[in-house]
Amino acid sequence: MNSFEYRNPTKILFGKGKIQKLKDNIPANATILFAYGGGSIKKNGIYEQAMAELKEYKVIEFSGIEANPRYETCMRAVELSRAEKVDFILAVGGGSVLDAAKFIAIAIPYEGADPWEMLVNRTAGQQKKAIPIGTILTLPATGSEMNGSSVISRESTREKLSFGSPLVYPAFSILDPQVVKSLPKIQIANGVIDAYSHVLEQYMTYPSDAPIQDNFAEGIFRTLIEIGPKVLENPADEISAGNFMWACTMALNGLIAQGVPTDWATHMIGHELTALYGIDHAQTLAIIGPNLYRVMFSNKKQKLAQYAERVWGITTGTVDEKATAAIEKTVSFFQSLGVKTRLSEYTGQYQETASIIQDRFSKRNWKALGENGIITLDKVKEIVEMSY
Ligand code: NAP
Ligand code: FE
Repeated sequence: MNSFEYRNPTKILFGKGKIQKLKDNIPANATILFAYGGGSIKKNGIYEQAMAELKEYKVIEFSGIEANPRYETCMRAVELSRAEKVDFILAVGGGSVLDAAKFIAIAIPYEGADPWEMLVNRTAGQQKKAIPIGTILTLPATGSEMNGSSVISRESTREKLSFGSPLVYPAFSILDPQVVKSLPKIQIANGVIDAYSHVLEQYMTYPSDAPIQDNFAEGIFRTLIEIGPKVLENPADEISAGNFMWACTMALNGLIAQGVPTDWATHMIGHELTALYGIDHAQTLAIIGPNLYRVMFSNKKQKLAQYAERVWGITTGTVDEKATAAIEKTVSFFQSLGVKTRLSEYTGQYQETASIIQDRFSKRNWKALGENGIITLDKVKEIVEMSY
């Protein structure tokens, strides 16, 4: 196992009715930016439940944060927050609202010309100040409720870039499984696949002599395989919903990444498909992930074979046969949730995608991706072409 330093400061309040604990966790006299999306929280009652707990605070509402939150939208919230002297942000929504809140939180006190610079120059980690955030998660998927990462899209340039900073971990996150019952089926499927892909990114590397991380990761895979179809079938079952929620949080709160190599190339390529064609985040991962394993087969086959045995119960055959079967099982699992796994099933204009992405990565000097830095621009092209 490699050396590591790990601290996760987010307090989790898990369970039915935990929204009632809001007041105990937000500083008295705070001026709160109440950030949310397109209105699902008004339909399912979460807005009312949260507002009922905030009567003693000055609350500034900011709605309309879209899926794949935009820099342009976030900057309107930054201006509003600066004018109103906001000193706490409550994000109520899915990964998009939470990620937007993180950007807003670090952009408010930013002293440079344009906060977008932090994403382009990768300087968010060096910032000294951010406004504290709390969250009420309404969509299990991203792990954003318990990590210091965020992904923001810029409409004007059709870019989607991520940033990370210890300053933007939520101070607390409320995970009430009751939120799951109002989710459209496609969002549940997306959530399962996003969380599953997060575990893949941190696990499907080379054998790393870290059995605790491997066993944790394999446990999350097995849980999502078991629970995913149940939640899709019956989102009102709060036991499955709660396990789904916690599995998604555990998939990306840093725990399974400590001391082991991680890949993240599927996410980097997938972000381009969202930026170019507006394809849902999880769907881009279902398109790219399996093909990345096909192209990088010789480097990943040992771990793929371990995954085949321990997650899919494939115990016979050679390493190559088991590894191949595991990739097919993964594709079938994604498809069984109702998600398509080829780019051409989402857009008719896919033909130039590989060269566009190759060109974008080249300009950003992203020339050595993956756990070994051996996913070159040529490999990226091969992966994307295989995904058509
Ligand atoms: P999302 O974009 O936050 O939400 C998708 C849709 O679900 C929205 O239309 C939203 O509607 C709706 N919704 C949310 N909760 C609902 C509920 N309880 N009932 C009914 N509808 C509900 O989806 P997401 O998958 O959580 O987030 C995706 C974003 O996260 C992407 O930008 C992705 O790149 C990013 N991401 C971040 C991380 C990270 O570590 N920070 C990791 C992976 C992905 P409303 O707008 O009306 O609420
Ligand atoms: Fe993701």
